Amino acid sequence: MSTIVFATTNKDKVREISEITAGSDVNILTMSDIGYVEDIEEDGTTFTENATIKAKAVADYINTSKTDLKGAIVLADDSGLEIDYYDKKPGIMSHRWLGDRTYTQAMQDVLKDMEGVPDDKRTARFVCSMAAVLSDGQVITVLDTIEGIVGHEIIGDNGFGYDPFFYVPELGCTTAQLSTEDKNKISHRGKALRNIIGKLKDAGLI
Ligand code: IMP
Repeated sequence: MSTIVFATTNKDKVREISEITAGSDVNILTMSDIGYVEDIEEDGTTFTENATIKAKAVADYINTSKTDLKGAIVLADDSGLEIDYYDKKPGIMSHRWLGDRTYTQAMQDVLKDMEGVPDDKRTARFVCSMAAVLSDGQVITVLDTIEGIVGHEIIGDNGFGYDPFFYVPELGCTTAQLSTEDKNKISHRGKALRNIIGKLKDAGLI
């Protein structure tokens, strides 16, 4: 049995990784399981740097204070929205970009600003990088995306964050109109998670 410590407190992400690793002999632990409570400063300049910073911080913690978990693989992700009309902003600043606005207010501001902008200039993507720190300190990273456009309205009650205005033309809906299960099949995070778990399996590590 191998152990993966997933550097997240988000229950949806934990459920997703459990589904993807079902069938493998893997024990998934979270930050609360290992008693990690500190905030990790994400001061990288890319999604991959930030995911790596998070994974390394948790790996350091394990290696210095959790002898029972020595050798565990540590996994972390960083994600965000790139809007081409804004030169790929907010990107790694996706959460901080809100300031004191709610997501609905931030999306309304964008829709107003982009009024009249044709669909071919509204391209956007959700990006997710996953980093895994192995027992020997080696780092594996992957980066995956889901392409779409900034839609023309805020629609849908599922998902979170910027989902209600992220329109996927091939599906004819926003990611907030998809069930969690359907979103995971096509999302940046679902793809990145399957990608990195696949690499760990191919390397015989899980
Ligand atoms: P984190 O990497 O989970 O901290 O996500 C960073 C931020 O990116 C979130 O707070 C959201 O603003 C945005 N974001 C990332 N993934 C998604 C998504 O699947 N839907 C909507 N917003 C997302």
